[in-house]
Formats: sequence, structure tokens, C-alpha cells
Amino acid sequence: MEPEPTVSRPPVTCSHCGATAADAPLTWSSSTRPRGVQLVCDRCTRANLRSIEGKLDEAWW
Ligand SMILES: [Zn+2]
Repeated sequence: MEPEPTVSRPPVTCSHCGATAADAPLTWSSSTRPRGVQLVCDRCTRANLRSIEGKLDEAWW
């Protein structure tokens, strides 16, 4: 079990593939959702661009 992060910049997790990083890389994208800010890694961002701009919208996230 891991303790709750208390630092101001906790590790980030890609909300799509689960990839983690010590800090939010600039290449990651974030989107504000009702549940909070979700971060998506650069790979997923690129992979999802087509979906985002296509038929699938935020409901898919
Ligand atoms: Zn990802």
C-alpha cells in the first residue's frame, strides 16, 4: 500500500493506459473532467487525436 501523496506535485498517471511519470511532462495533455483533471500521456494523446476529432468525443474518455 502506498501512502497518500502529500507533496504539491504528486506522480501523474495516464488516465487511459495507466502510464506513470514523476511529474506531468509537457508532452502530456490534460483535460478537466467533472471528476477532476485527467492526464493523458503523449502516446495516448496522439493515438486519441483521431478519435477526439472523429466520431468519438469526450464521452469516450
Ligand atoms: Zn497513456
